[in-house]
Amino acid sequence: MLVKKYDVAVIGGGPAGLAAALSAKEREPGLTVAVIERDKALGGILQQCIHNGFGLHYFGEELTGPEYANRFIERIKGSGVDVYLDTMVLELTPERRVVCVSAANGLMAIDAGAVVLAMGCRERTRGALNIPGTRPAGVYTAGCAQRLVNMEGLMPGKKVLILGSGDIGLIMARRLTWEGAKVVLVAEIMPYSSGLNRNIVQCLVDNGIPLKFNHTVTNIIGKERVEAVTVAEVDPRTRLPITGTEQTYECDTLLLSVGLLPENELTSAAGIDIDPVTNGAVVDETRQTSLAGVFACGNVLHVHDLVDNVSDEATLAGRAAAEYASGQASRQQTYAVKGVNGVRYTVPQRVHAGLDGKTDIYFRVGNAYRPATAVVRCGDTVIAKRRKQIMTPGEMEKITIDAALVTGDLTVGLEEVNPS
Ligand SMILES: Cc1cc2nc3c(=O)[nH]c(=O)nc-3n(C[C@H](O)[C@H](O)[C@H](O)COP(=O)(O)OP(=O)(O)OC[C@H]3O[C@@H](n4cnc5c(N)ncnc54)[C@H](O)[C@@H]3O)c2cc1C
Repeated sequence: MLVKKYDVAVIGGGPAGLAAALSAKEREPGLTVAVIERDKALGGILQQCIHNGFGLHYFGEELTGPEYANRFIERIKGSGVDVYLDTMVLELTPERRVVCVSAANGLMAIDAGAVVLAMGCRERTRGALNIPGTRPAGVYTAGCAQRLVNMEGLMPGKKVLILGSGDIGLIMARRLTWEGAKVVLVAEIMPYSSGLNRNIVQCLVDNGIPLKFNHTVTNIIGKERVEAVTVAEVDPRTRLPITGTEQTYECDTLLLSVGLLPENELTSAAGIDIDPVTNGAVVDETRQTSLAGVFACGNVLHVHDLVDNVSDEATLAGRAAAEYASGQASRQQTYAVKGVNGVRYTVPQRVHAGLDGKTDIYFRVGNAYRPATAVVRCGDTVIAKRRKQIMTPGEMEKITIDAALVTGDLTVGLEEVNPS
């Protein structure tokens, strides 16, 4: 087996992996850095997101997904970072050996001074939902349909019902309408959307596509191909369908936009602690996981709605990986950060004591609130507060703390709330 050595090995060449590799190289230009990507091209999921709306925060302008990715790919070209395409990582060991396979090199091992995990996430499928009914053709995840339309030039169907109002489903409702299909309904089981508000307006409202909250799919009808889908209202408390509310929609396609799962098989197999809420690694403010020298960023860590936040997070992780690989690892004590009172999770879940400057804590709420105040406490002392007119589960929130005030475990919770 071919064995190579790199100071920093980055697994995944999407926006997270690219920003992490560039940041590692910029922090310590003398280090050797490699990106390992299973696809034939860099850019990750952005390559199929041909709509605009990317980069408003990071570049201060509106770009399409491929344009956003290309800015990083161009920088990678002249950076001295080695890129292994068409190369699938099979294993990460606790000793930071990255085992991968490719047609070009066969089985190869990379012994790395530090590793950055940037494998993104995958979509939940019909199997994860247990929808009753027959098993005809015409049931796709929204991201799969997006790839077919935007990259392969194929239409998945003509009359479409979408289950779930996550961002991918909303974007595909608009895309399929523009390509000549009829989107008969977007059904959402929750009383609110898990997508960005701007996508509800620009994708559904602007195109006259109906959205029903508290509704789910209860049956798929059709032998060879989907012929109709039954939708029922659910009890908002139990989420169970209410008998007698069923409505059947004639359609040939059902798209599922019901959540993303971080790709953490490598992470778990390496024995790294996983947060049961985010399904990503437990990390500190540098995005270091419970395994020293292994960092995580982007959708593999927690599902992001904006790629701009992915790039910021990956920059932190890449810089910290370079510092670790060049022997500047921090050894101070860490304290826990916990979401309470309506806050489902925080990233990071741990912070170091004795830091200088500011630290951003990202979090998601578990319900829609209009308005709410997010409060960070260290013991009984309030160390940061942020009031917002609206907080919803679909939008990731951020609160900045003065790191010098961290002298014990932290909680992030909502106060003065008004659930809506
Ligand atoms: C449909 C859709 C629409 C979106 N719309 C917007 C928008 O309008 N605006 C916005 O800002 N953001 C949007 N986003 C979010 C943004 O695209 C993501 O947050 C971002 O792409 C995540 O980057 P990532 O690098 O973590 O993951 P990815 O882009 O998924 O990249 C992960 C990479 O890792 C590789 N990989 C995984 N496992 C392995 C392995 N074992 N070995 C080697 N390589 C591996 C994958 O092939 C992939 O290339 C959208 C996302 C989707 C899916």
